[in-house]
Amino acid sequence: MSENRQDFEMDKVYNPRDIEDRLYTMWEESGAFVAKRVPGKKPFTIVMPPPNITGQLHMGHAMDCLLQDAPTRYHRMKGDPTLWLPGTDHASIATEVKIVEQMKKEGLTKEMIGREAFLERAWKWKAEYGGRINRQQRRLGASCDWTRERFTMDEGCNEAVREVFVNLYRKGLIYRGNRIINWCPVCKTALSDAEVEYEEQHSHLWHIHYPAADGGKGVVVATTRPETMLGDTAVAVNPADERYAELVGKMVVLPIVNRLIPVVADEYVDMAFGTGAVKITPAHDPNDFEVAQRHQLEIIRVTNDDGTMNARAGKFEGVHEYECRKMIVKELDEQGYLVKTEDYTHNVGTCYRCHTTVDPVTSLQWFVKMEPLAKPAMDVVRNGQTKFLPERFSKTFFNWMENIRDWCISRQLWWGHRIPAWYCQECGEIVVAKEAPDRCPKCGSQRLKQDEDVLDTWFSSGLWPFSTLGWPYKTEDLAYFYPTNMLVTGYDIIFFWVARMIFSGIEQMGQTPFDTVLIHGLVRDAQGRKMSKSLGNGVDPLEIIENYGADALRFSLAMGISPGNDTRYSNEKVEAARNFANKVWNASRFVLMNMDTREEIQPEQLTMPDRWILSRLQKTIAEVSAHMEDGDFGLSANQIYEFTWSEFCDWYIELSKSRLTGEDEAAKRNVRAVLYHVLESLLKLLHPFMPFLTEEVYQHLPAADGMLILAAWPEQNPAFAFEADERRMEGLMDVIRAIRNLRAEMKVQPGKRTHVTLLPEAGWEDAMALAEPYLQRLAGASAVTLGQKGETSKEKTVSAVCEAAEIRIPLGDLVDMEKEIARLEKEHTSLAAEIERASARLNNPGFVGKAPAALVEQERAKLLTSQGMLDSLAQRIAELKADA
Ligand SMILES: [Zn+2]
Ligand SMILES: [Zn+2]
Repeated sequence: MSENRQDFEMDKVYNPRDIEDRLYTMWEESGAFVAKRVPGKKPFTIVMPPPNITGQLHMGHAMDCLLQDAPTRYHRMKGDPTLWLPGTDHASIATEVKIVEQMKKEGLTKEMIGREAFLERAWKWKAEYGGRINRQQRRLGASCDWTRERFTMDEGCNEAVREVFVNLYRKGLIYRGNRIINWCPVCKTALSDAEVEYEEQHSHLWHIHYPAADGGKGVVVATTRPETMLGDTAVAVNPADERYAELVGKMVVLPIVNRLIPVVADEYVDMAFGTGAVKITPAHDPNDFEVAQRHQLEIIRVTNDDGTMNARAGKFEGVHEYECRKMIVKELDEQGYLVKTEDYTHNVGTCYRCHTTVDPVTSLQWFVKMEPLAKPAMDVVRNGQTKFLPERFSKTFFNWMENIRDWCISRQLWWGHRIPAWYCQECGEIVVAKEAPDRCPKCGSQRLKQDEDVLDTWFSSGLWPFSTLGWPYKTEDLAYFYPTNMLVTGYDIIFFWVARMIFSGIEQMGQTPFDTVLIHGLVRDAQGRKMSKSLGNGVDPLEIIENYGADALRFSLAMGISPGNDTRYSNEKVEAARNFANKVWNASRFVLMNMDTREEIQPEQLTMPDRWILSRLQKTIAEVSAHMEDGDFGLSANQIYEFTWSEFCDWYIELSKSRLTGEDEAAKRNVRAVLYHVLESLLKLLHPFMPFLTEEVYQHLPAADGMLILAAWPEQNPAFAFEADERRMEGLMDVIRAIRNLRAEMKVQPGKRTHVTLLPEAGWEDAMALAEPYLQRLAGASAVTLGQKGETSKEKTVSAVCEAAEIRIPLGDLVDMEKEIARLEKEHTSLAAEIERASARLNNPGFVGKAPAALVEQERAKLLTSQGMLDSLAQRIAELKADA
């Protein structure tokens, strides 16, 4: 018997608040979450997508957590050395924004307090709030190995970041260059392409005339950002465009500025779009930037980092770009250069943090060269080393990877991994190194200055599957647990994160970091809307846990989900899950009240219902296990629910009661043994979804062996496969259901018992011969008589036909004749009146002529049915009267 066994009885009602914290502490303190390396045994590993330290647990996290905890618990019970490695992300930009906001309330800015004091604040903030989300995950029952918890900016992760930066730099895969990036004028930092969100904006397309320098007619170009014309350095046309053949190589005059710019020919220009001539503004457009590179054009940036115009904008210097736009349009119009203005709707990039429209600008930044990294990453997905589940998300991945541009990794922020590059103040040499160099390797100067910028937050989270296991050191954990098995994440961060982990893992470790990427959808509200702060329709998981318990929340999230698809949250679902928890609790309590020890099942003593439930259990074990392996946790949860509620509770427990209270000691012992076995197995099957409830009940089992969290996952037992009995039992259940239906149709009082005659179909004689006690217990039968198929009965009966038998019940047993005749006559009268009204309507040419044909048809059909019913009623009344 287990030391943990609680000898006191189970409480009458299941109260999650009394048990959840206690059990979580028990698990954690016992070391149940801690992964152990077992040489020769294949581990199961998940690294947790690290939530931002700024995060507050929301429904998306709760889903994430469930989808990782369920397989973790399953594999742990299977006996696999199981590691679920938790941690948090420093979330560079998100955290910095929070701290800047906090300082603003004190009237402070970053610049006022300086880098060092700012970072001090940030670390303090992290110490205070950074652990909040982890505490919330504990409430959900997350069984991750907290002894291995990591933080993307802890010492080890920081070393990994510097190591990778230096590696990639030495291979020429990281470079510093003046290229087009996305600039957020509010956050005042560069953003990667993945950090830009597109939204539709209504704007204008302005058509501007650029006259030819030689007095010719020149060209008309169209733009949505006329203020950028101040930085135009060419006009481009397609080399095949005959309209402009004459102009190529000549000069046009840039209006307002009166600068001469060349007309160049470039394949990039679409002849069919607009006038076929485009202005080239290399500093403010990624395509123009490339045209400029091909034609060695000057690059003139006309904006500052805060979105105002700079000195290159001449008289517009200091004016905000949007104000400048209005001034330019007005001036062009006045000077006769504005040909026309069109309404125009287009997609505009916005900052994913603050939703300001981003400016594409040229800027001196650090980049990762993507092409050589993207290819092997696509290969591992193509050849199945990493599988997306569902598979359709690999298309999303390929789309992104095939069109990928170099990744801008420098951010003009302070909170994050500072770029390990130093600039010699004497000779300008750039030194990239893991540790700060003493002196310039080129000129020997000690005047070195480290780059001010930090790295994109995804640079460090991209290393997460191996940096957390100890890389760059060759640790035992790294050797044992890498590559990991499953990554669980939402579809929204496939680019941000999944793709970067894959290419980083291949590049640094030589192996893709996980074999399966399980993509889940969003948790939407009951109406299918995205949960959001602005709609106020978000649901706080902690509040739900408070009211219904963590298991109910977990189970409600699991029921009905399928990989990759969005799911809806509703209180009804949680209530249904809570009802299920109560059902399991009450059933367990009933079972345990009837026994004080574990008994062995005696196979020769098994009855048909025993063999049925044991056989159904084997199938349930097989199906649930298969779905757990496939990552289809919604189907697993459904199977357990159906088996527990519709088979074990509704039928088997009911069927067991007569034996439990009977006189036959051997039968009693055996039914107790079966109840125990099935209950114990289903607690195990349910544990990954409802860990608290199942552990609590398990602790009450007379023969509980330690803790359920570490108990062995149930295995199929071929000795308990009884196909024939399953079918026989299903047949019997059908008969019971049919009798219940008949009684309900005839409105029979629940207490009234009736005689039942069964006329078995061929092959069902044996099964029906056993039916009497079950029909007495579950179908209100007083006695059961077996008859021959086809025989006629002497008295009036009602009957139903099932696969196993025809059922006959004497009418006299079911109803009071007088009352029944009266009831039928009343029904007859009202139906007759209805028929009269309907006939009158259909004989009325006004109705038939005006009403839609379909409605008339419907009325006619209804009348016909009613007349048939009226005939049956009349016949039944006549029969009853004849008998009475
Ligand atoms: Zn921003
Ligand atoms: Zn130097």
